[in-house]
Order: sequence, then C-alpha cells, then structure tokens
Amino acid sequence: MGLPFNRTPEGRIDQRRFGGHTRNHGEAAVRRSCYAADRTGHMILQTLYQNCIKEGVEFFNEFYVLDIILNEDSGEPVAAGAVAYELATGEIHVFRAKSVVFATGGYGKVWKTTSNAHTLTGDGMGIIWRNGLPLEDMEFYQFHPTGLAGLGVLLTEGARGEGGILRNASGERFMERYAPTIKDLAPRDMVARAMVQEVREGRGAGPNKDYVYLDLTHLPAEQVESKLPDITEFSRTYLGVDPITELVPVFPTAHYAMGGVPTNVDTEVLRDNEHVVPGLYAAGEVACVSVHGANRLGTNSLLDINVFGRRAGIEAAEYANSVEHAELPDDPQGATIALVERLRSASGSERTAVLRKDMQDTMDMNAQVYRTEATLKQALSDVQELKARYANVSIQDRGTRYNTDLIEAIELGFLLDLAEVTVVSALERKESRGGHAREDYPNRDDVNFMRHTMAYKSEDVSGEDYVRLDYKPVTMTRYEPMERKY
Ligand SMILES: Cc1cc2nc3c(=O)[nH]c(=O)nc-3n(C[C@H](O)[C@H](O)[C@H](O)COP(=O)(O)OP(=O)(O)OC[C@H]3O[C@@H](n4cnc5c(N)ncnc54)[C@H](O)[C@@H]3O)c2cc1C
Repeated sequence: MGLPFNRTPEGRIDQRRFGGHTRNHGEAAVRRSCYAADRTGHMILQTLYQNCIKEGVEFFNEFYVLDIILNEDSGEPVAAGAVAYELATGEIHVFRAKSVVFATGGYGKVWKTTSNAHTLTGDGMGIIWRNGLPLEDMEFYQFHPTGLAGLGVLLTEGARGEGGILRNASGERFMERYAPTIKDLAPRDMVARAMVQEVREGRGAGPNKDYVYLDLTHLPAEQVESKLPDITEFSRTYLGVDPITELVPVFPTAHYAMGGVPTNVDTEVLRDNEHVVPGLYAAGEVACVSVHGANRLGTNSLLDINVFGRRAGIEAAEYANSVEHAELPDDPQGATIALVERLRSASGSERTAVLRKDMQDTMDMNAQVYRTEATLKQALSDVQELKARYANVSIQDRGTRYNTDLIEAIELGFLLDLAEVTVVSALERKESRGGHAREDYPNRDDVNFMRHTMAYKSEDVSGEDYVRLDYKPVTMTRYEPMERKY
C-alpha cells in the first residue's frame, strides 16, 4: 500500500528491539519490530487514509456515533444500524445498515495522566455497554512506562529499543535489579511497576522525587534525531529538555485497553460467552479478541488493527451480501434525542470539566499501576458519587452548531460508565496478572483466575443499575501459559 518503513542499507525493511520482544521466552532481546521512525501508527493511518481516498470511500466527518440500532424481533439482537450526531449542525442521523463495525479505539481519558488523544473517551465501549452487551477483561489496562513526567505525552518504547536507559535520581540503571537479562526492554507492566517502586522507595528524581529519567545522551545525536524525531521534539517542546544532551523526566502513563468489546476471532461481537450479535463487528482497541491477554507487547496493537480491521471488513461485507436489512425498531433515534435534549436543556449546577477532573484524579490515585482492595473501593465510591452528580450536569452552550460542550458532556457519561466497570472488574480479580497489579494479591492465581471477566450492565430489584460480573473460560491452544522470567 506504500507505507514508508525505515529501511536497512540493503533496502530491506529495518527492525528494532522493543519491550518484551525476546527469543526463547526471555533469553535475549531480538530485533522484531518493523518501524517508521517513531511514528509507525501515524504512518499506517496516513497510508490507509490515502488508500481510502483512492478507493472513493465516503467519510462522514465530525459525525459522532452515539448509539447502535438493534432489532430484537426474534428475541435476539441483530444489528440494524447506528445513530450519529452531526457536530456542524446538531442534527441526528439514522444510518440503516446490515453490518456495523465498531473501530472507535480506547478510553485512556478515564485517567488524568494518559498518552491518549482527547477523542479517546470510550464511546464505542460505552454504547455497547448501554445496549446491554458485555465488556470483557476491563481490569487489564496498560500503563506505558515512558510518559513525559506530569503530562503523560508518550515517548515511544522504540527509544529504549534504540538503546535508551532508565535511571533513578542517583543515575543508577535500576532495571538491572528488576529484569537482569533484558533490563530496560522488559515488558511494559514490569518496567512501569519498577518505576513506581523506585519513586515509592525514595529514589525518584526532581524536586518532588516523583519521576525517573530516560537517558538517551550516550546515543549518537544523529541516531536520536533520525530514528526518534517525534519524541525528541516532544521533549524539547513540552518539557524544554533536549534528549541529546539531557535526561528526560518520565513516569508511567495510561496507554492501552487490553479489554473491551468481546469478539470472536472473526471480529463478531459476542452477547454472552457463546452467541454473537449477527451483523455487529468490532476491531482494534475497542475490541477484546484477547490476542494480547493481560498485557500487550509494544507494536502489537498496530498488528492487531491491521489483522482484525481487515477481517472485520471482509466479514461485514460478506454478511451484508448475504442478508436483507433488519427492520428498524420504532423510533430508532429516540434514546439519542432524549440524551441530547436532556443535556441541552439541563439547568443543574454540576460542570463537565469538574466532574471529569475528579474522575481522573481518583483513577490516577486509586486504579493505576498498583491497586489494592482499599484503593479500588475508594475509586468505586468516588466514581459512583460522580455518576450521581453527573445526573445534575448542565452545559453552557445550548446551540446546535459545533457544540463541543454538549459532546464533552456526553463523552463524560461514557467515561464514568467505563471507569466503574474497570474498577468493579479490578476489585474482583484478586490476583496480579499482566497489567493488573494487586499489592494485596501479588501473585498470579491460575487456579481461581485463569478466566476472562465478562461485565454486564444489570438492574437490581429496586431498578438501580449495577455491574454484574460473569466469567468466560480461557481458550488454551499450543502455547502453555508460564511465568515470565527476564
Ligand atoms: C501516542 C501513542 C503511540 C502509540 N504507539 C504505538 C506503537 O508504536 N505500536 C503499537 O502497536 N501501538 C501503539 N499505540 C497504540 C495504538 O496506536 C492504538 O491502540 C491504535 O491506534 C488503536 O487503533 P484503533 O483503530 O482501534 O483506534 P484509534 O486509532 O484510536 O481510532 C479510533 C477513531 O474512532 C473515532 N471515534 C471515537 N469515538 C467515536 C464516535 N463516537 N463516533 C465517531 N468516531 C469516533 C476517534 O476519533 C478515532 O478517530 C500508540 C498509542 C498512542 C496513544
């Protein structure tokens, strides 16, 4: 398709080291990651977009999908379309469709310190959730080790792949103690925990001793400038630090959802452990095919979106060619109009920005790299209180054109739902596995927890919503899960 990968002098696609990419289960780091400088994902996006233009794909830009339409005539849900809000006009549109593919990405904005863009508010997962479909393994959220301290802006793992080293305040290469074989290239969950540990034990750097350093100063300036141009620029722009000559302050940042909308390997969305919703597909970070287990290795999301994005397209097209349109239910946009109108006319005293900040603060404080029963209970009670306050939220812009005030309020609703599901799922997983580290249950417990969490939105006897947890067996294939040793 024409993606400009970095090349070797011989003209072959170059490969670099990345975290957790090893041979023989941790024996030594290997060069397995194809890359385009430090912007591989960006290049994939540009290449796909250009090809879509070439193929005449029609985009509905700045249309926000706020609901799916399901036909339940047969007693089981079947996809019938989607409902979208047009930002430019405030109009609500119904898209009747035989197949619907969700590719709406992750929900990193639940946390304050995140690498994720402002758009990553989990709308897709939230819509699925509100329609009574499950979310899988939401407790498994990845914190990338090297966010710019205090900001969360991502410095790619490729920096350590190129030879970058993490150091504590006294200049020690501390990863030698935590992962003696592959050191700074241990998987992200391990490196993130080591960094937090260094700070907790007083070896953090800076005036508040609350970060560690990424050291690139021993690498040739030419290598840093050419292979890591974006992160070099980010460090200079956002922290005023030049990685060629100075140590860069870094700390873990909320990065990637291993959990999400459960699908089978053909990207069909599951409504329970066994049954799919015909015509409904999900691919990419919004989905949980569970190819990453409890901890994704760097580079594998881009692999995932290419493999499963392609599969979703093929499956959705084949399905659409084989069926008639499902009937639309009466008033398919009714719930969306009610949501928008309620917010547009609300006069409550709560503000979106305040509630969002409080949610992000408690999630950063209580449901981050390390969790305990007490911190998770605190996060749950905070999030539930915020949900109650959200019922009283109002917006200042009541107009119909480019009403981002309204969109942000809607997105906050999705974020609060997902924060609650994440915390409830994390509370019940009383073990540590991959990205989910419980200080009160530090070991992996295969006897009780070698299973996927399936969360469902349910109602108790008094009509109150609550998160009901169920579980799904793990499918074992040729690879026998084993303890990771580096
Ligand atoms: C800074 C950064 C660097 C990364 N680097 C790497 C890397 O080197 N290697 C790797 O494997 N992974 C990397 N990742 C992870 C990877 O980029 C993401 O997991 C991946 O881009 C997810 O792709 P996606 O297509 O599922 O979703 P996204 O690329 O997030 O796209 C989702 C799209 O859906 C849109 N959307 C959301 N809600 C709605 C709605 N309601 N209506 C309409 N549209 C909506 C969003 O605006 C967005 O355009 C990185 C992530 C970040 C944040």
